[in-house]
Amino acid sequence: MKKKVAVLGATGSIGRSALDVIRAEGDSYEPVLFSSHRNLGGLLALSQEFPAAALALTGVETEAPPQGVLRGMAGLRRGIAEAAADMVVNGIAGAAGLEPSLLALEAGADLALANKETVVMAAPLVFALAAKRGRRILPVDSEHAAIFNLLEAHGREAVEELILTASGGPFRGCSREELSRISPDEALRHPTWKMGPKISVDSATLANKGLEVIEAAGLFDFPPGAVTVAVHPQSIVHSMVRLKNGAIYAELSQPDMRLPIHNALAYPLCGPCAFGRLDFNGLTLEFEKPDLERFPLLPLAYQAARLGGPYPVIYNAANEAGVAAFLAKSIGFLDIPQVVEYVMSNDWQAGTWNLREAGVFEGLALILETDRKARNAAEAYIKTYSR
Ligand code: NDP
Ligand code: MG
Repeated sequence: MKKKVAVLGATGSIGRSALDVIRAEGDSYEPVLFSSHRNLGGLLALSQEFPAAALALTGVETEAPPQGVLRGMAGLRRGIAEAAADMVVNGIAGAAGLEPSLLALEAGADLALANKETVVMAAPLVFALAAKRGRRILPVDSEHAAIFNLLEAHGREAVEELILTASGGPFRGCSREELSRISPDEALRHPTWKMGPKISVDSATLANKGLEVIEAAGLFDFPPGAVTVAVHPQSIVHSMVRLKNGAIYAELSQPDMRLPIHNALAYPLCGPCAFGRLDFNGLTLEFEKPDLERFPLLPLAYQAARLGGPYPVIYNAANEAGVAAFLAKSIGFLDIPQVVEYVMSNDWQAGTWNLREAGVFEGLALILETDRKARNAAEAYIKTYSR
């Protein structure tokens, strides 16, 4: 029997990689739902190839898309509820991916999760819901996919440290002066991974690694201090674990998102995969410490993770607003961390935040309200930059 798969964010970088895996392993998977936000053409092209799959276009609330295409968030909600997918691949970019993750679990599907914001913003809610529905969350983010495998191999109890690797982005060796002049086009050119615009900018500022520290702590239930970062420019070692006896184990492959997507779709099987196979002969692997002074979004993420409560939501929302303003050329590259630091320093009355006792959709409302307030605070601050 083929696994029924929904691909959310099917027109993006993760979505395209997921479709490559589905095409290569067509005997195993049957696509039942695709979503995109505004890219109707991409969605219709997929429909030509997979006519049985339902289509949802989330970014169109009012205009009528062609007949049969579900529209808006309401359409996606219906699509997920009716698709009866065994597995939902969530490749939606940003905070908008959170609700679809919850809907997928609620509908009884396992979640192949690329959308890291889901865990950053709502780890307790998502895990409570997955447990209630008896579903699995399989990380697709390459570092977390590697750590997931390493924890399964060695047992969580044996592990004392999760070591996330970071490419260091395109500006690893740049001075502050050089960083201050970086344009959006330069920031979008990642040295080892081909990804969507938001995550490419985050890789250049190290906010992506910051989000991944919070993601790792949330996914694997480790304290933030037990999650460390090693800069590894080749992106061959996807992450490592240090056991209590001091030994370090790593997972290596070519940087190719199709391998972690294959693993998540096939879980718990470990069958042949056409992607990411590595020839290690002649390879040189380098490691260095991240520069926390030049890339303050990494220490700010640790601060958000340690403070907990609403702070990971605030960090993420302020960073999303900062990146959007940078891409729109309203602020410079070095202003993005300034925006995040400013918004995090506001009074968030964190004492009143209690997610553990909230129901799923009540918790979601609280998170989205905090997300909205943090974005508003960031946008108001960004206006002060218009020179
Ligand atoms: P892209 O920007 O390439 O693609 C995003 C997808 O989500 C598109 O299909 C887009 O539709 C859709 N989308 C955008 N905005 C919304 C919205 N508001 N509501 C619903 N759907 C939306 O992103 P990536 O594929 O690079 O990243 C997706 C997620 O995966 C992110 O969370 C990222 O951090 C994570 N990730 C990505 C990796 C990568 O290699 N790219 C690696 C690890 C994690 P449309 O095309 O119509 O705009
Ligand atoms: Mg990653």
